[in-house]
Amino acid sequence: GPDPARYPARAVVDLAAIRDNVRALRGHAGSAEVMAVVKADAYGHGLLPSALAALAGGATWLSVAQPSEALALRAAGLGPDRSRLVAWLFPPGAPLRALIEADVDVSVAACWALDDVAAAARAAERPARVHLEVDTGLGRNGVMPTDLPAVLASAVRAEAEGVLRVVGIWSHLACADEPGHPSIAAQAEVFDDAVRLAERSGLAPDVRHLANSAATLTAPRTRYDLVRPGLAVYGMSPVPQLGPPAEHGLTPAMTLEARLATVKQVGAGQGVSYGGEYTTTGPTVLGVVPLGYADGIPRHASSGPSGSGPGGPVLVGGPDAGRRVLRVRGRVCMDQLVLDLGPGATERAGDVVTLFGAGTGLGRGGTPIAEDWAQAAGTIGYEITTRLGGRVPREHV
Ligand code: PLP
Repeated sequence: GPDPARYPARAVVDLAAIRDNVRALRGHAGSAEVMAVVKADAYGHGLLPSALAALAGGATWLSVAQPSEALALRAAGLGPDRSRLVAWLFPPGAPLRALIEADVDVSVAACWALDDVAAAARAAERPARVHLEVDTGLGRNGVMPTDLPAVLASAVRAEAEGVLRVVGIWSHLACADEPGHPSIAAQAEVFDDAVRLAERSGLAPDVRHLANSAATLTAPRTRYDLVRPGLAVYGMSPVPQLGPPAEHGLTPAMTLEARLATVKQVGAGQGVSYGGEYTTTGPTVLGVVPLGYADGIPRHASSGPSGSGPGGPVLVGGPDAGRRVLRVRGRVCMDQLVLDLGPGATERAGDVVTLFGAGTGLGRGGTPIAEDWAQAAGTIGYEITTRLGGRVPREHV
């Protein structure tokens, strides 16, 4: 690959952190196994290396949203001997036969999907492995409990025909990031009813799975046979109000760095970036960071007029220049953002600055983490790493 010292910006992904985060999650999961969620390019961290690191940490299952993501993992050589793999979201017309032939488990959330999977399995001349998704209250994908009897009846017929086996039954929580929220127990009860109904119909799924990262950490009742964490695998805090990742035994895997493209002296009254919303109050030094909203840096992490937005945090400085956390000044542009390095700053073009990394976060007086960017932009950590653009190389270490 290109010389790292020449990148305008890069995301360094610490695979040992992913491995160790999965180890920590196994510790939280009790007797449940871990299905690492690696959809969306492993939350922006790089699909295959992250998947392998999760398996090295003891995950026994992987899951993705889209069929193409599952096929990419299998095509990259990650065979069924290495990990079971589930794809859970597709409209009609999905490459179901290819999934079945690649030994990918498919989720079914409607009668039509069950019929399509059965037809694809007949064409492939091998049985499909199906996970039945039940909507226990999220109001998103999944079979509504009222529609469950019909889907179960179809599934029983298809099993009898030998074209598929229901190996899993699962659901997803709406409010797992609010520990103790009454909907968590309520959804678990609806889930239990669905499992009982499936079993009474004659199905015998091997695995029940419900818990995401937050539930894995805080809701033992929801762990069942498999937990299904994503966010925590990458070391982001699934319950930020319970503290930063380190408090859950997790280490942020991604560090986003950039090299200052321009450092220059300006006078007082200099408007900074589009709209001139930030104006320097005295002579100072501006630093231009070559990352912008085309790279997934949220424009909402701009600093508005007279500090109406906090601005995303950036760690600058090093051994020779004072280490300090600055805030984006003015608007985040498509390819760049601007820092006010302060009068007398000694930074130079080419110096590395860090937008977020493996620190303890600003809330603990530490260095910025992805959640700090989320807070500055009014969003969630998930969005910070998953939206990181394709222009930013991922360097796996
Ligand atoms: N299960 C499903 C169905 C999901 O959509 C997701 C991610 O959004 C997860 C599990 C993992 O959730 P989290 O990243 O909060 O652990």
